[in-house]
Order: sequence, then C-alpha cells, then structure tokens
Amino acid sequence: MAWQLIIFSIISTLILIALYFSLFVSVECRKRKRGYTVRQLINGYWPYILAAAAVYGLLQAQFPIRQHLNLLVNYDCTAYIEHIEGGLVAGFQSMATPTLTYLMTFVYLVLFSSIVMFTFIVLAYTEQTAELKRFSLVFILNYLIAFPFYLLFPVTVTGYALPSVQPLMYELHPMVYSAITMVDPLDNCFPSLHVALVFSTLLVIYGTNLRRYTVFLIFAFPTVVFSTLYLGVHWATDIIAGMALSVLTLHIANKYGEQILQHANIAIVELEMLIGVKETIICNMCAYKIITVPHIQFVSCPQCGTRIEHSVL
Ligand SMILES: [Zn+2]
Repeated sequence: MAWQLIIFSIISTLILIALYFSLFVSVECRKRKRGYTVRQLINGYWPYILAAAAVYGLLQAQFPIRQHLNLLVNYDCTAYIEHIEGGLVAGFQSMATPTLTYLMTFVYLVLFSSIVMFTFIVLAYTEQTAELKRFSLVFILNYLIAFPFYLLFPVTVTGYALPSVQPLMYELHPMVYSAITMVDPLDNCFPSLHVALVFSTLLVIYGTNLRRYTVFLIFAFPTVVFSTLYLGVHWATDIIAGMALSVLTLHIANKYGEQILQHANIAIVELEMLIGVKETIICNMCAYKIITVPHIQFVSCPQCGTRIEHSVL
C-alpha cells in the first residue's frame, strides 16, 4: 500500500526537479559553464554524495539503531515543549480544508525533497563548486546534529500530543501513515529538519547567481514552515530550533569548512587509492602524463620532478 505513495512521491519529485531546471537555470548560467564532463563531476563530488547519502541513511535506519544501542528511551520530552508554548500551534488549523490538507501534504513530502535534491544538482550543474561544498557540509551537519536529539530527546508530533491539534497529514490516508511510520517514530520533532534544510538552502543559494531560485525559496520556505505547523507535525519551538540549527551549521561550514575538508581529503585520497579511481594530470613542464587519483592536491612529475598543484574541480 505504502509503495504506491512512495512511487508517486518519487515521480512527482523528478517532475518538479525538471520544472525547476527549466525555470531557474538561466541561459547565462548555462553559458558560463566550463564544461566538465559527467565523469569529472562524479570523480570530484563522489565523497559529498556518499557522505550525504550516509547521514540520510542514518536517520532512515533509526529503528534498528535504537534497538541495537538498546536506547529504548522510556521517557518523553513532549511535556517540556508543551510547557513552553502550550496549544499555540492549534491556531494554524483554524482554516483547515481537505484541499489545503492535500496541498500541504504535497509540500511536506514532495516539495521539500525536490528542493533539497535540486539544490545539489543545480550547484553541480552550474559548477558553483564552493557553494556545492558548503551546501553538502551544511546538509551533513544538520543531520548529524539533529540525530542525537531524535534519539535522546523524543518529542511527539503535535497531532498526537495536543488534543486541540489534528494529525491532518498522518490521518489523511492509511497509505500516508504507513509510509511515514516505516522510518519515522513520530517523535522526531526537535529540531525540525524540514525547516533546517530549507532554511540552509535559502541561506546558501542567496549567495549565488541563481536569482530566480532565490526568489522561489523566499516563498517556499514559509510555505514549508506553515505545512509542518498546519499538518500537526511540528511545534513552534521546533521551527525556531530548526532555523537556529541552519545558522549554526552555516557558521561551522564558513569558519571550519576548509579545515574539515582538508581532513576529509586525506581519507578520500586513501579511499581512491584503495578503489583504484584514476585521474590523468599533464605535467606543465614536460607534458608527461601522470596517472594518479582525483583528490590528490600535489603531485611530483616522475620525469622532470616538477611539483604540480592539482585541484579536482
Ligand atoms: Zn614533467
């Protein structure tokens, strides 16, 4: 049953990504490309793709991790949040209609994932390497920092915690409930990753030449925030914590990004040597073809001894 919804979500996400591509990637952006091949892009970005997939997978594997660590947390932190804000979010459901519920469920499940995925794709496609690295780092940090909160500070979704709030999305259809609860224990509230990831996207994209996409995100961000509150998922506190998380992770990425990437690069080079990924560098003195790995930063020419600086992308 849930598979139909998952397939529908994947297809809609792909359609939206194609739509964003035609709307937000201007002709100037396409022209300015240096023309990396797909192979070069994969060689250059595989560590980011792998790390992002790993942290995403970590969250999806929450049930087995909880069991394995014997972290059968037998306490509930919902009362703390309720103490702070009470039934504040109930107001967001005052204009509830079935159409709005369907629309907001689409925003929560599909629009959200399409934004995150498109951001990776568009930054790679337009060869904005610094921004792509920053976005990848921020994405990874958002997940890594939120994860311990989900394990150790469980806060139940508002729809099942507050009598004045209906679980509009979860009870929209049994398919929605079973698809979501396959990976989500419904107590991963604090902080909101939906908010953190979309706000991070806005903060990173704001500094790029993707102006139309920036304008879209300025409208999409409050829509995603509204969807989480309206659908009976998040507390207002989670929204604030999610935004604070994006500011924190962007700060870490800006201040320590270079150092983090330098350390990671050592491991990446080791791994590339182990797998046997190849890159050809032409010596700028004697034109000798040096075979090495993509993420190597310096290489000495075996023929003339020149030290060559190399940057993968
Ligand atoms: Zn040489």
